[in-house]
Amino acid sequence: MTEINIITDRAELEERLRELAETEYTGILNPGAMCYVPVMPKPEEYTCPVCGNITTLSGYNIRNIRAIGEIVENIRDLGFDVQLDEREFCGFCAESVKDIEGVEVVGKRIEGRPELFFRIRFDEDSDYHIARSNFPDHYKCVLAFLTGDETYTNDFDDTRTLHDNIEILQKMLGIGPDIPVPPKPEGPPKGPPPAGRLSNKDILGVLRKKPDSDD
Ligand SMILES: [Zn+2]
Repeated sequence: MTEINIITDRAELEERLRELAETEYTGILNPGAMCYVPVMPKPEEYTCPVCGNITTLSGYNIRNIRAIGEIVENIRDLGFDVQLDEREFCGFCAESVKDIEGVEVVGKRIEGRPELFFRIRFDEDSDYHIARSNFPDHYKCVLAFLTGDETYTNDFDDTRTLHDNIEILQKMLGIGPDIPVPPKPEGPPKGPPPAGRLSNKDILGVLRKKPDSDD
């Protein structure tokens, strides 16, 4: 078993982020094999971890909260001081989220949509950095970075490199805001996806579609 050396020092993490921004990934990135439409889970009852009350949420939201919650647990297991604030999804607590207004939160608010807030700090004396994101990929990116990996596997089973996701790490972790973000590499030519493979947009369209009536 190889021993993983987890860096928890903010300055050292910034140094690593700068290295990632200034270099290119030299490995091979595997495109995922997902060519099926994922089954949209049905709405479910959600028990708020703060107040214990129950709210019914869409299957899409339930799935994301669970996936992100697990990733945040993994980040905590590495030894980081992290919290996931789910209160906006609770019909009883959402109001109380107002108390973080005035704190600088990174990320654009999408009006009328509940959001998860990720909090992290690198030492006890600092305030938490707060970022908003409902995307499991952003958290996977953070977990990979803090584990010392160079890549992560996104929701569509594609391997992605952290070198191309510097902005997400800056946003989520609040480190190295001055590190210049390298230009995005040229992607494959735009056009329809290869036969048998759905585009990410198609899959998202299906996932976001309101489920038909339950029975
Ligand atoms: Zn609640």
